[in-house]
This record gives sequence, C-alpha cells and structure tokens, in this order.
Amino acid sequence: MSLLTVGTVAFDKIETPFGLAEKIVGGAATYAALSASYFTDNICLVAVVGDDFPQTVLQDMSKRGINLEGLQIRKGEKSFFWSGRYHTNMNDRDTLDTQLNVLADFNPILPQSYKNAQYVLLGNLTPSVQMKVIEQMVERPKLIALDTMNYWISSALDELKEVIKKIDMLIINDEEARLLSGEYSLVKAARVILKMGPRTLAIKKGEHGALLFQGDQIFFAPALPLAEVFDPTGAGDTFAGGMMGYLAKTRDTSFENIKAAIIYGSAMASFCVEKFGITRLTELKSAEISQRVQEFVHLVKFSV
Ligand code: AMP
Repeated sequence: MSLLTVGTVAFDKIETPFGLAEKIVGGAATYAALSASYFTDNICLVAVVGDDFPQTVLQDMSKRGINLEGLQIRKGEKSFFWSGRYHTNMNDRDTLDTQLNVLADFNPILPQSYKNAQYVLLGNLTPSVQMKVIEQMVERPKLIALDTMNYWISSALDELKEVIKKIDMLIINDEEARLLSGEYSLVKAARVILKMGPRTLAIKKGEHGALLFQGDQIFFAPALPLAEVFDPTGAGDTFAGGMMGYLAKTRDTSFENIKAAIIYGSAMASFCVEKFGITRLTELKSAEISQRVQEFVHLVKFSV
C-alpha cells in the first residue's frame, strides 16, 4: 500500500561528542522515506531541493522504491541546510543554524499518482504546507500522521490546530506534548491533545522510548539500551517512517497493530543513531531488523 511523505530533504552539519560531519545528507523526509523503504516499496516523496543535492543519493532512493516524481529540483538554488550540536548526554541539542533556501517558498504539488495514497506522513514543516498536502488528496487516506515541533506550536498554533483536526495520529516528543497541551503530566497532556482531533498520539521520549495513547489505552515501547550512540539526528523521523512503513505494509490500523508498528519504528531508530547521518539506513538487511525487533520483545518480557 502506498505511503506518501512530505518533509525536508537537506544538508546537515552535525557536531556530537564523537565527531563533526561538515555537510552530510539529512532532512526529515530523507530519514522517514529511507526507514519506510524497508517495509514498503511504494513511497511517494514530496519535497524540494536545490540542484546542489547529489544525484547519486536521489538515484539510490529511487532504487529503494522511493518515487521522486513529487520532488522539485530548483535550478541555481540551494537545498535546506541545518546545523546542530549535541550535548554530552546526546539527548539535548542546540540548533546552530537553519538556512531555509528552497524551503522558503515551498509549494507542495502532488503528482496525480500520489493523490490516492492510503497512508500519509506529514513531516515537520509549516502547518500551511502540511494542510496543502491534505487538501490535494482525492480520497480520505486510511491514516494521516503528522510530526511537528516547538517552533510551530509557539508561532503558528491556530494553523497547526486546524491541521491537527484533520489527522489520525500525532507524533511529537514529550516537550512538545507539554507545550501543546499546557499539561506537565503526559497522561493529562494526551487527554487534552486527543480532544484536538487525532485518534492516536505517539509521544517520543528519546532514549526513554515512546508512549502510545488511544482513548483510555496506553502502550509503552522502550528504546533499546545501546552501547554506542554516535548521532541521534533523524531518529525521530526514522521512528515515524518505520512505523508508517510497517502500517502501510500490514494495512491494519488497529491499536494492536499500531503497537507493533511503534516497536518497528523504535527498532529502526535504534539503527539510525549507530552511525552519522543516513549511513546506517542505507546498509541494513531485513534479517537485522527482525533480529532487533526480537531484542525489543526480550527486553520487556517477564513473568509474574
Ligand atoms: P530529528 O533529529 O528527527 O529532529 O530530525 C533532524 C532532521 O530534521 C535533520 O536532518 C534536519 O535536516 C531536519 N530539520 C532540522 N530543522 C528542521 C526544521 N526546522 N524543519 C524541517 N526539518 C528540519
């Protein structure tokens, strides 16, 4: 089943306690699409880059079943650029620079073949761009998920709430959930957010895993304790892409299956952080993914 995803395809400069990557390929949609490509080969990417973006990376994405018909390549312009520095705890980071470049006036245009996608992942972008994508769908997708960030919650709350009304699943981190709801307790925050429209809420808690809320049901997915974390960039997008890829593959949006999907998303995120940038997401084998999912199962299995 096809999965449409919109978001940034970008260059990043990343500093972690383990090293510096000056200019590497990144972007929320890059991570999400690569992650989803391990589950479904029908991914429709909507994004914009400049002609400085490497053709080899695009060709590789295409080989992985990522449809690039909806990728705009602007001649003579530069791709989105983001730079961040991680603290020693590897959970917190400071944004050092954001250069919108081609993203400044991005108008997402869906090719005809994308408009019937049944699964949609709206990556972190201006809420008005996310809305434009929803408006172009010819039929209501089976599941629309949305990711956002503090910046939009603070600067475009009304617009964001309009989009949130139209989606099925919101994927945000704990800090964003608190900001959006005005509640410190994540259980209370979830109650407030679920009243805004989405049936399901996934709250990411970095190295502490993720919580899933639907009605009165709560599920907890741990993060795998890893010996080596080199670069957490893109872990959230990889989580969302893996989760949505799994849902598109299994075509089942029940709460039970969304639980399995967040474990798959967490497994993909655990690979992402093992090397700088997208490296790990381009070299995985399906057997490694299955094995890692089993590690999650063992991690939380116990008898009473
Ligand atoms: P994550 O670590 O999951 O938050 O995602 C990091 C990725 O998001 C990086 O590869 C960046 O290129 C991209 N990114 C950073 N800032 C923004 C932004 N303001 N809007 C959209 N994408 C961004």
